[in-house]
Amino acid sequence: MHAIEETQLEPGDGALLLANLTKVRTDIDRAVRHAGREPQSVALLCASKTQSAERIEQVILAGHRLFGENRVQEAKAKWPDLQARYPDVELHLIGPLQTNKVRDAIRLFDVIETLDRENLAEALAQESAKLGRSPKLYVEVNTGAEPQKAGILAQDADAFIAKCRGLGLDIVGLMCVPPVDQQASPHFALLSQIARRNGLTRLSMGMSADFALAIQLGSTEVRVGTAIFGHRPA
Ligand SMILES: *Cc1c(COP(=O)(O)O)cnc(C)c1O
Repeated sequence: MHAIEETQLEPGDGALLLANLTKVRTDIDRAVRHAGREPQSVALLCASKTQSAERIEQVILAGHRLFGENRVQEAKAKWPDLQARYPDVELHLIGPLQTNKVRDAIRLFDVIETLDRENLAEALAQESAKLGRSPKLYVEVNTGAEPQKAGILAQDADAFIAKCRGLGLDIVGLMCVPPVDQQASPHFALLSQIARRNGLTRLSMGMSADFALAIQLGSTEVRVGTAIFGHRPA
């Protein structure tokens, strides 16, 4: 396993993280009100990739319970101990999943947001049956059809969702990461449209830079890292 460059806890960090978390929650509440949506209709997922277990624990101690990690190996090193001590934490996988890591992912994560291809759907169905544990799943949609990016193409989404349901998978929502160099709103609107016509109510969309816009367009879960933890080391 290669070393992970983690951001370590420094003196005063607890107070800083609490202040950042409070500000993000306030901004989310404002966006929810502005959009005329129900209070509490948008969850804040704290994206904790590259953060040390000590820094993550400060956010847990501030009362936060919903987290997302990008890599199975990194999560495996940081989370089992935190999960044992804080059993009400909910952990989501928000990064790409290789089929050879499916078993570990099912053990570690409550929700996997990056289901994006048939062989992964089949592996998830098989391993869930073996382990007797079925995580809730989001289908990731590559709304910008970017060749380097994970996610099912928008035009293939309906058939893929049907296929996953046929395998008995518990599909609860959709997730997207819009292209960095484009207006995010058409991508959020597209994801929302695909969810609606497939009877899915959960939409994981919006990050530090654009969560207010995502909330305006129906997001039920914003994934925020930088605005809580500060900039990650390059
Ligand atoms: C890192 C990450 C986030 C959080 O991004 P920030 O810009 O730091 O808020 C959200 N979603 C995914 C998939 C990520 O990898």
